[in-house]
Amino acid sequence: DETAGEARGDGAQAPARTPATGRYAERFGGQLVLVTGAASGIGRATAFAFAEAGARVIAVDRDAEGAARTAELSLLAGAPEAWSEAVDVSDEQAMEELAAKVHAEHGVVDVLVNNAGIGLSGSFFDTTPEDWRRVLDVNLWGVIHGCRLFGRQMAERGQGGHIVNTASAAAYQPSKALPAYSTSKAAVLMLSECLRAELAGQDIGVTAICPGLVNTNITDTATFVGVDAQEERRRQKRSTRVYGLRNYPPEKVADAILRAVVLNKAMVPVTPEARASYALSRFLPRA
Ligand code: NAD
Repeated sequence: DETAGEARGDGAQAPARTPATGRYAERFGGQLVLVTGAASGIGRATAFAFAEAGARVIAVDRDAEGAARTAELSLLAGAPEAWSEAVDVSDEQAMEELAAKVHAEHGVVDVLVNNAGIGLSGSFFDTTPEDWRRVLDVNLWGVIHGCRLFGRQMAERGQGGHIVNTASAAAYQPSKALPAYSTSKAAVLMLSECLRAELAGQDIGVTAICPGLVNTNITDTATFVGVDAQEERRRQKRSTRVYGLRNYPPEKVADAILRAVVLNKAMVPVTPEARASYALSRFLPRA
């Protein structure tokens, strides 16, 4: 489906149907799946992958139009039902309203994917307190709100479920260029592991997904401090194009997400360089 590939808007050549997602139809058919950051990139590809597996999809994003488009295309991809909600994940009250509305209208979410996130590049001393707050508000608080509100509903229902949080290889790969972003993602990784331990007895899995560089729009929306933003954006786009290895499509991350839920993985480094740096990292492997 060429329209779907085009509408992903991430520049990647997206296969509309992948054998991997087709395989998961039995597991996710009819399930209720909520994805945040679903208007673009990894979130949109993840919504499509669950749709292809026959799940009912709720696409959440602060970009109302993009989220609506994802819902529309999810129906074409095979979702029996799909909706969109325009919500800023860092807004506690808006998230509370979303959780109440979803519960009242559709029931308890079976799979929650806390994926909304923003980029921020710049040295530690160029990063202002305001920059820190902005990135932590979205990347960390957005995940906390999602886990608290929807995780509680899952636990109270008592029929299991799964939460996926999009962290990053930056979570375990120190970099002087991304102190705030990396810190937010390291926090998401630890939060995921603590919550996994908490919910283990209730048949609710929690997964932290850690991609390396993926070909999405994140460079366009990222904040660059202490450098010429336009120049830095151009440089990053160039390097994404130049290194074939780095030209990693969001659809493959979506595949990894579905597989991680099926296999109930704690933590998944996704791209080749994310796997390599994880193997070299000082952390012990996570079971
Ligand atoms: P993207 O910019 O294409 O998509 C991010 C989406 O999140 C956008 O639709 C945006 O509108 C939405 N969003 C941002 N802030 C929001 C908020 N406050 N409330 C609701 N929605 C919001 O980028 P992507 O690469 O698909 O990013 C998805 C996730 O993957 C992010 O958490 C990102 O940090 C993570 N990640 C990306 C890469 C990469 O190289 N692209 C690597 C590792 C991790």
